[in-house]
Amino acid sequence: MAFSYDILVAGSGWAGATVARKLADEGLRVLVLERRNHIGGNCYDEYNEHGILIHRYGPHIFHTKFPHVWEFASQFTSWRLYRHEVRSYVDGTFFPIPVNLNTMEMLYRRNFTREEMISFISDRVIHYEEPKNSHEVIVSQMGQDIYDKFFAGYTLKQWGVTADELEPEVCSRIPIRYTRDNRYFSDPYQGIPKEGYGRLFRRMLDHERISLLLKTDYSAVKDEIKAGWTVYTGGIDTFFNRVYGPLPYRGMRFVFETHEQESYQGWGVVNYPNDFGYTRITEYKRLTGQERSHTTISFEYPSNNGEPCYPMPTKSAMALYGRYCKLAGKMDRTSFLGRLGSYRYINMDQAILQGLDLAEELLELI
Ligand SMILES: Cc1cc2nc3c(=O)[nH]c(=O)nc-3n(C[C@H](O)[C@H](O)[C@H](O)COP(=O)(O)OP(=O)(O)OC[C@H]3O[C@@H](n4cnc5c(N)ncnc54)[C@H](O)[C@@H]3O)c2cc1C
Repeated sequence: MAFSYDILVAGSGWAGATVARKLADEGLRVLVLERRNHIGGNCYDEYNEHGILIHRYGPHIFHTKFPHVWEFASQFTSWRLYRHEVRSYVDGTFFPIPVNLNTMEMLYRRNFTREEMISFISDRVIHYEEPKNSHEVIVSQMGQDIYDKFFAGYTLKQWGVTADELEPEVCSRIPIRYTRDNRYFSDPYQGIPKEGYGRLFRRMLDHERISLLLKTDYSAVKDEIKAGWTVYTGGIDTFFNRVYGPLPYRGMRFVFETHEQESYQGWGVVNYPNDFGYTRITEYKRLTGQERSHTTISFEYPSNNGEPCYPMPTKSAMALYGRYCKLAGKMDRTSFLGRLGSYRYINMDQAILQGLDLAEELLELI
């Protein structure tokens, strides 16, 4: 059978664009469908009406520990060597996050050596044989006081339920550092694309063997296109017309404001665990290094509507996902990929990893 394309990719975020580019480089003809009017998925950035480069779906900082992922992405951009720092606004003070020696000294108004911090924390943690929920995970790592100040309110705002109601895995990766490292990420490779994610994605998909259709939903055209293999990076539930019902997501509403002042806050992101309705404020110039006399910030309001951002980490949602996986397993010449296709929160580098791995597999199979 002759196919019009070797590969059809639904979605032009990191997962889809990586597979598309990798396979096009290997000589395959690829069609990319994107239902939005832009490429890049949730990493999309654009200049707003005030000339400030903003991230439309919230702040995106690239970081990875994998040299081959960094090399892959670096083919399409040079980097602004940005080191992301986050502060958490608690009781009128901006504390460094993740909790580290500097946070401890500000919080308890005394000096700490590394050894003193270790013993202070270990005197306060509560031991659980097997933590049953996210609250137990955090207090077993940092104790109740730090949990109350920095995490209880944030988790409630972020998920709409308390940490006691969340699976242990949700908060299992929150780090605590016994150093003075204020950086948010500790990966060796970190940065922001110098000319933005939009330019990066345009370069990635600009290839003689890649065709791109924007504003085109897979479901609307799937019967008209012949392809040897389909890579679907949209919602696995939408692929199957939500026969078992929709997979739940925690959504996010982004409210942007531009201020006639050079700087709004001292850091790229400030978390607000206990005050106001939003979880955090991002100032984009701090990420991108843009110089302007005015500045744009965004407020993030979690909600069950808004942009679907985070798969709900509950038992019932995972069970529903499992049912869709069974259907996916029966599909011929079709792969599901990315944060929506695999229904889990992944960072950008993990989306690239998924894309690179699948491209390798498909080269063997096709
Ligand atoms: C608020 C927020 C902040 C984040 N910050 C960071 C960060 O700082 N660093 C980091 O590494 N990661 C961050 N992430 C994670 C990052 O957004 C993801 O890792 C990345 O977007 C995953 O890429 P993807 O290709 O899997 O999905 P997406 O980027 O969502 O791309 C999927 C694409 O598929 C398209 N699509 C869906 N269905 C269809 C269909 N039926 N037909 C055609 N097209 C379709 C969508 O329109 C979309 O463009 C953040 C996530 C959120 C929510």
